[in-house]
This record gives sequence, structure tokens and C-alpha cells, in this order.
Amino acid sequence: MIPVEKNKTYSVTIEAISSEGSGIAHIDGYTIFVPQTAVGDVCRVLVVKVKSNYAYAKLKELLTPSPVRTEPVCPAFSKCGGCVFQHLTYEEQLRIKKQTIEDALIRIGNLQNAHVEEILGMEHPLRYRNKMVFPIGGSVENPVCGFYRERSHDIIPLSDCALGDAMNQDIIKTVLSFMKEFRIAPYQEETHSGCVRRIFTRRAYHTGEWMVVLSVNANALPHAEEFVKRICAISGDIVSIYLNCNQQKNNLVLGGKNVLLFGKPVISDLLCALSYEISPDSFFQVNPQQTEKLYQKAIEFAGITKDDTVLDVYCGIGTISLSAAQKAKNVIGVEIVPQAIENAKENAKRNQISNATFYAAAAEDLVPKLIADGIRPDVVILDPPRKGCDENTLNAILTAQPKRIVYVSCNPATLARDLKLLTKKDYSLKKAVGVDMFPWTHHVESVVCLSREKADDYIRISVHTKDLQTKSN
Ligand code: SAH
Repeated sequence: MIPVEKNKTYSVTIEAISSEGSGIAHIDGYTIFVPQTAVGDVCRVLVVKVKSNYAYAKLKELLTPSPVRTEPVCPAFSKCGGCVFQHLTYEEQLRIKKQTIEDALIRIGNLQNAHVEEILGMEHPLRYRNKMVFPIGGSVENPVCGFYRERSHDIIPLSDCALGDAMNQDIIKTVLSFMKEFRIAPYQEETHSGCVRRIFTRRAYHTGEWMVVLSVNANALPHAEEFVKRICAISGDIVSIYLNCNQQKNNLVLGGKNVLLFGKPVISDLLCALSYEISPDSFFQVNPQQTEKLYQKAIEFAGITKDDTVLDVYCGIGTISLSAAQKAKNVIGVEIVPQAIENAKENAKRNQISNATFYAAAAEDLVPKLIADGIRPDVVILDPPRKGCDENTLNAILTAQPKRIVYVSCNPATLARDLKLLTKKDYSLKKAVGVDMFPWTHHVESVVCLSREKADDYIRISVHTKDLQTKSN
């Protein structure tokens, strides 16, 4: 018997938070998910969808608010699909994320004794994003900029996002007033008409350089010179301005071709003291401060020495590979996107790193081949997309018997699934930690280390590498 009915209200107490960020309550053992609630909330909820094992409900009235609630910093909370945890204190967000990792390791990974270290949070968890995308809509008379409503393409007008740099506000204002003055129409998705689709900005954390890209449904921008003049007047830090010409009926952030309107084709940034050049299309981690913490943890867990060969699978533009290369004998990076591998090779050159080799291939094809050809990495680093690793990749790695496997993951569920396979025989989980790369959202990154070594040996090695890191800092 399902104890609730659609369109009826019920009083519930929120007991936990799901991995998607919804509150969880129970009525007679039956689960109800309620978004935008906190553990300890007593509330009246309206059931909106009923399934055999669970239901979804909307918060209607907060009868007793939980002490872990806080005032959302953003006026668009509850409308914009971005931050689901704006109503929670930062400490509570970190607690939930650590719990999510622990639960996944225990329930999915069957790793009963998993000890997860204290999660690495941010000291100042706002305005951390180095990349922002603002869709443009409205009319010629009244162009608006904002965010997509959750699960839709309606634009909620907003002049700021608390996760991005405050200077984005000036850029938005300038673009909208330019459009209004010169009567340049916003793009209309339904009719594939109009011009300006979105504003895209990038800020290099260490060098302070900015890139501004205006995406248009056209092959040129009317009054482009005036546009450049106005954007440059915002700040001398804006060193690169592009027009992204995308006349296709798609929803890519930057489709079509990029035309440089002003300044440098790339901006430069540092990550773990290595230098990177970022173009409009380059993949670059969006939270630079936390990325450094993540990579430092991965390198620390890996315990790399000068005799080690490191295999970095899913290497992107080679950022982890190049950090590892400084400590290893050599590094092999594998990544499916050829452009990212081109960037990785350029990045190695720019940083005068000559002991890293990069291959553009699917990990599930190339890793088994490399192992069959006799390559025996001492350390394997995995950093797959949300869906996790392919079984062929994991089985090949097990055949190669590296000393250590460091797994960096943006999805605790697939991480735990893959760890179940990897810990079937010789390997055991030695370390696990969460890194909060995306404060106010439900996303959490984790780093774990598996090893064949006995616990004492492993601890000795990791203490040794930690010492080395402290000395070199
Ligand atoms: N380690 C990098 C990138 C991690 S994101 C960093 O820290 O920046 C995951 C990467 O896996 C992406 O670059 C994606 O293009 C790549 N990828 C996705 N599927 C893949 C596959 N089957 N084989 C190899 N790489 C893949």
C-alpha cells in the first residue's frame, strides 16, 4: 500500500539529503523526496508525483525550520537550476557531501570500513567560478540576461551570479545597453531568429586576465568597434574579446567559429605552478583554488617517486599528468578528445616537461593495448567523466598490477561501483577524501587511493611524499 496520494499535503520531518540534493522523509517506511529542505525541517509538503517505491513532493510550509538553514544569498534560488544548497550553511553542505561519499563507498562499493578524511572546503565559498555563461533573451526594446529556469529554456532575468566574479555584472550591463542602443535583437530559440545568444566570460585566477566572448546567430556583429571599445572600458584586465558566430539551430555554448575582435587569442593561467593557455574552447577546471587542492591530494595519494611510470587515464589537457611528471620518471596520458591532447602536448612544451607522452584514444581501447604491449605503470591515475570507467579499462589495469591506483571522481556512485570491481582481489582502499569543487551545488569531487601494499607500508610512503611536498613548497 502506498501511503500517500498525488495532490495531497502531509506533515513530514526531513531525515537525510539524497545524492541529488533533495530532502528525504518517510511516511510508514515509504520514501518522499522534497527539494529545498534541510535535515531537521518539520514541514507540510504537497505530493506531486507518486511511484511504487517513492514520491516527489514540494515544500508548502515550513512548520519548524532546521537550525542548519541559512538565508540564500541569491534571489534566484528556487528558480534557477544551479545551486540546490543555497538554503544550507556551508558547514552543513560539507557534512552532506562527506556523507554522500561515505554512503556510496559503503552501500555501492561494499567497502564497510571506508574512512573518509575531512572534506576540503573553501575558506570563501562564493565567487569561485572562473567561467560563466549568461543566456540572452527578451526583446529588441528590452533585452534581458539571466539563467535558465530549472529543466527549461525560459530565462530568469538576473544581473549577477554569486558563484562568478562581480565584474560579470558590468559586462552584462554593458552588453545589454549596447544591444538596446543599437537595436541588436536577442536570439529567439523557437524561431531561430534574432542575433545575440549568450555572453561567455573567462577569468584567469592567478594572472587576472579576462576573456569575453559574445555568441551571435550571425557572421558579424553590427558596430563591433563600438562594442570592443565599451567592453575594454570596463577594465584593463579584459585582454581578449571574441565573437562566436553560431548560425546553427543548436544549443551549444559556443558552436560555429570564433572570431577574435580584440587582443590576445588566449589568456594564461597557472595551476599548481605550471602555466596554461586557455582559448574559448579549451577545457579548464572551473574552480581553480579547489582544483589545486584536488591535484595536490591526488599527487600525495599517488606517492610518486623518480623511478615511477605513471599512467594518467582521462587526462584532459594534461593538468594532472604534468603535475605528476615533475615527480615521476615518465607519464603517459590518455584522453578521447584529440584537441585536448593537442593542448596537453603544447602545455608540456610550454612548461619544458619532456617526460610526458600523450595519446588521443578511448581509454577502453588503448589501455588494454598498452598493457598487452608490456607497459607496466607503477601508478595509475583515473579521472573519468560522471559515468565512470569502462570495465575493459579496469580489468586491464588489474592485469598490470600497479603499486597504486588513484581514482579522482565527480560521481561517488560510479566511483563506488568501480571500486567494487577493483577491490575484488589484491587491492584495498587506503585513503579517501572529498574536495568541494562546487559549493552551493550538490556536486562533490573525491579522490581515493587503492594499493596492494600493507597498510603500514602505504602510510610510510604517503608520509614520505607529504614531507617532500612540504619541503618543496
Ligand atoms: N583529468 C582532467 C580531465 C578530467 S574530465 C582534468 O583534471 O582536467 C574527464 C575526461 O575524460 C574528459 O577530458 C573527457 O574528454 C575524457 N573522456 C571521456 N570519455 C573518455 C574515454 N572513453 N576515454 C578517454 N577519455 C575519455
